[in-house]
Amino acid sequence: MDKIKMTTPIVEMDGDEMTRILWQMIKDQLILPYVDLKSEYYDLGLKHRDETNDQVTVDAAIATRKYGVGVKCATITPNAQRVEEYGLKEMWKSPNGTIRAILDGTVFRAPILVRNIAPLVPTWKKPIVIARHAYGDIYRNVESRVEKGGKAELTVYGADGSVTRKEIFDYARSAGVAQGVHNTDDSIGSFARACFRYALDNRQDLWFSTKDTISKIYDHRFKDIFQEIFDAEFAADFKNAGIEYFYTLIDDAVARVMRSEGGMIWACKNYDGDVMSDMVATAFGSLGLMTSVLVSPDGCYEYEAAHGTVTRHYYKHLKGEETSTNSVATIYAWSGALRKRGQLDGNAALEVFADKLERATIETIESGVMTRDLTRLCQGAATGVSTEGFIGAIAQKLQQ
Ligand code: NAP
Ligand code: MG
Repeated sequence: MDKIKMTTPIVEMDGDEMTRILWQMIKDQLILPYVDLKSEYYDLGLKHRDETNDQVTVDAAIATRKYGVGVKCATITPNAQRVEEYGLKEMWKSPNGTIRAILDGTVFRAPILVRNIAPLVPTWKKPIVIARHAYGDIYRNVESRVEKGGKAELTVYGADGSVTRKEIFDYARSAGVAQGVHNTDDSIGSFARACFRYALDNRQDLWFSTKDTISKIYDHRFKDIFQEIFDAEFAADFKNAGIEYFYTLIDDAVARVMRSEGGMIWACKNYDGDVMSDMVATAFGSLGLMTSVLVSPDGCYEYEAAHGTVTRHYYKHLKGEETSTNSVATIYAWSGALRKRGQLDGNAALEVFADKLERATIETIESGVMTRDLTRLCQGAATGVSTEGFIGAIAQKLQQ
């Protein structure tokens, strides 16, 4: 059998610990036998990031801009303990943060559904994708403790020399706290475009929610920017695709999502997305079934699993003990990247292969063979297998 040819490379970002082991197994057993893989390889393993003073992360992000499609393995974000463990020169920044800053992207997190693992919310039949605005608000806040008798003001110095002062609070009766947050029209606009584009790509309705009734200037600005961009650039395409854009208050969105059958993209402000994505992920099952894609406003895509490097399993693996690490989200990162490459290059064979790889993965779980994080969530017969056993079973299905 001839292997599938590729015309343009995928940017391949290797990573750390247990997911680095999965990475190699997935490539060797599920991809390389079928695809003449063209990839530009960047080793984002912590050791190599340290050797290159983290330049490799920047290079990988720039390459993703150039080629438009990347696939990334989970990586360690170093803390004090990792600095010691790896003898690092510095406590390097989060690779995902670095890549996100260079691509200026929005992160979409989508659960993978399998028939024998029912979501905790019985009405949910289709995946709910959370799009989180990954800039500003409380993640870039400035805050202060204020003593009793103090006062806090919001002062804005206009470019024209004007000065606007608004009292936040007079702490005459009690000490307290105060906080300043910001966002920018550019960042909100990029977020909106990424969401509209992703909705069109996936033919899913887009919901957006904020608290604009209470936050009449700040949150209202988000609502207005989304509406302006939708009307000017996307309304016609949405109509042609038969999908809808819909704005509602965050509390109303929560109530509606809980009663819905799923299937929508839910765009959230930074904090709402942080919280809601954990809720949605838990309700759909396991972290091992959650994928993530970073989409830049100019149409670059970086695929990865939503989970980390699964450190606890890696230490077991190093001791020679058997592990049962779920490789589904990492397999889907690869299939997502291969499918997108196929779409961009008009390479139908590559798209078909991505579908087959996903189908083989789902069918393996639906036949009752799965890693042990899933067996306790599974309705019906389930056999918990090892990391290698699971990938081996998918490889067998794929061969058929
Ligand atoms: P984690 O690697 O996601 O693992 C947390 C726990 O969740 C695991 O111990 C395991 O539970 C379960 N789990 C996660 N993924 C699983 C999978 N594929 N199969 C089976 N079980 C899975 O998070 P962490 O332990 O907080 O972080 C470990 C390292 O990953 C850190 O160095 C962190 O910096 C990094 N990280 C990277 C990314 C990224 O690159 N995108 C994201 C998050 C964290 P049990 O132990 O109970 O089996
Ligand atoms: Mg969170």
